[in-house]
Amino acid sequence: MSITWTFTFRAVIVLGLSAHVFLMYNLARVLNGGFGMNLGTIVLAVLFSAAMLIPLFWVVCLADVPEMLLSQRAQRRFSNGQCPSCGYNCENISSATCPECGTALLEPARYQWTWQTLRRYVVLNVIAMLIGVGFGESLLTFDELMFRREASTLELQQFPSTVLLSRNRIWPNNDSNIRYDTLTGFTARNSQ
Ligand SMILES: [Zn+2]
Repeated sequence: MSITWTFTFRAVIVLGLSAHVFLMYNLARVLNGGFGMNLGTIVLAVLFSAAMLIPLFWVVCLADVPEMLLSQRAQRRFSNGQCPSCGYNCENISSATCPECGTALLEPARYQWTWQTLRRYVVLNVIAMLIGVGFGESLLTFDELMFRREASTLELQQFPSTVLLSRNRIWPNNDSNIRYDTLTGFTARNSQ
């Protein structure tokens, strides 16, 4: 398993976690109601989506699968008389290092959980939070911006009725309805 493989594997995990954060963030942000950016709502939604990552703690094991496999392979190679790093046959070699790649021919350390495991887990989650919240908030703000535009073109026509404009938000917040009328301005509420 190469470094690229490990990187791809972790990137997939981060993407999965980001998608989870994205959905949880949208859910909390919309459930709390309100139209437009509000610091309190954003903080609540961030805390909620972070808390919803806790049940996914088992992902820490997934993220370390490359390390476990690498260490297993190194152990197996060493016991077969091969170089733990590249697999070169070193059985009849007196040198202390592998003639192929220069790795010391010592028994490789067994895989074990360290502070690095925890740090990696925190880093992966922080990246997922940044992507999920960033993308979620951008999409919500973009949708509200489009709605403001729709409303501004309507207002020019000066409807006499109260409710000027009403529609549901775009995915994944189709359950939330946003409306604009001349009396109360922009509001949002959940359809259910
Ligand atoms: Zn080697």
